[in-house]
Amino acid sequence: MIQHIVNISGGKDSTACYLLALQRGVPFRAVMADTGNEHPVTIEYAERLAERTGGPQVEIYRADFSERMAKKRAYIAAHWPAKGVPQAVVDRAIAVLQPTGIPFLDLCLWKGRFPSRRAQFCTEFLKSEPIGKQVIDPARRAGPVVQWLGVRRAESLARRNAPMWQTVRTPGLHAMRFYRPLINWSAENVFGYAAAHGLDPNPLYLQGMGRVGCFPCINASKGEIRAIALRFPEAIDRIAEWEAICAESSKRGCGTFFAADVTPEGAALAKQISRIEDREARNAASATTQWPTARQVADWARTDRGGRQFNLLDAAFAEDEALSCSSQYGLCE
Ligand code: SF4
Repeated sequence: MIQHIVNISGGKDSTACYLLALQRGVPFRAVMADTGNEHPVTIEYAERLAERTGGPQVEIYRADFSERMAKKRAYIAAHWPAKGVPQAVVDRAIAVLQPTGIPFLDLCLWKGRFPSRRAQFCTEFLKSEPIGKQVIDPARRAGPVVQWLGVRRAESLARRNAPMWQTVRTPGLHAMRFYRPLINWSAENVFGYAAAHGLDPNPLYLQGMGRVGCFPCINASKGEIRAIALRFPEAIDRIAEWEAICAESSKRGCGTFFAADVTPEGAALAKQISRIEDREARNAASATTQWPTARQVADWARTDRGGRQFNLLDAAFAEDEALSCSSQYGLCE
């Protein structure tokens, strides 16, 4: 018998997928990966989908990096001193490389860095792998699987050619098909569909968030970072804390959450360093450069376009704005 599994993120698209599966009457499981970097409202929204709709309870899974971190501690103890890393740095890294139970932070501690646009390992290790190992593979051992994904072509250029159906075959496992039933839907269709079922969207959309995955996502736009910095400054404080912890576990003593070139200053530094021809000198320059921290990026996000002039109007109206609706989907229009 085919097993239907709906992937939930707590966002509008996966919620519409869940409702669609419910409406079609197929028995299904709903699964979500908690990265430890979602807003609690998003987790609660997913957890309450069942009672709000009469559908299945969303099963929440988390990645566990304990074993990998233990191996890394052993590696650091055995190899860093031989590479000339001062013993104090070695001891500090081993001391801080202990599982915190927060998958996102543990992943960054294990990797010794934050993910980036070019090395977006967060999606693989925090979402695909835990759901794959804990749900999909066991299900595929029992029979064929259809994974429902809330992906729309209109979402991004990268998804403009995404197929509705895709088959994956793996030796020793039953076939799996990805199913993207919303592939041709617009954001309006998605919100409208949920509204027609009497289901309110994740409340974060009503507070100016364009997406409600990681909070923030490493790829967050200036507007999203700005909205988070204004309305949820504690989220920026948490990332700043993670940056400090990760710096302790890194050989170079540095680590920033957002892309190095996200601010104009960071972009200028990145350009300057990219001009250094010798690879080792380039790496050394990059390692000693003070890249923009989460707090600096949040400050920049609250400025006007050039990023140098602090937006006094923003500051003056921040309190008002925090109470008003600036949903990017026009939900109150
Ligand atoms: S939402 Fe962003 S930060 Fe979170 S796993 Fe996906 S790409 Fe990484």
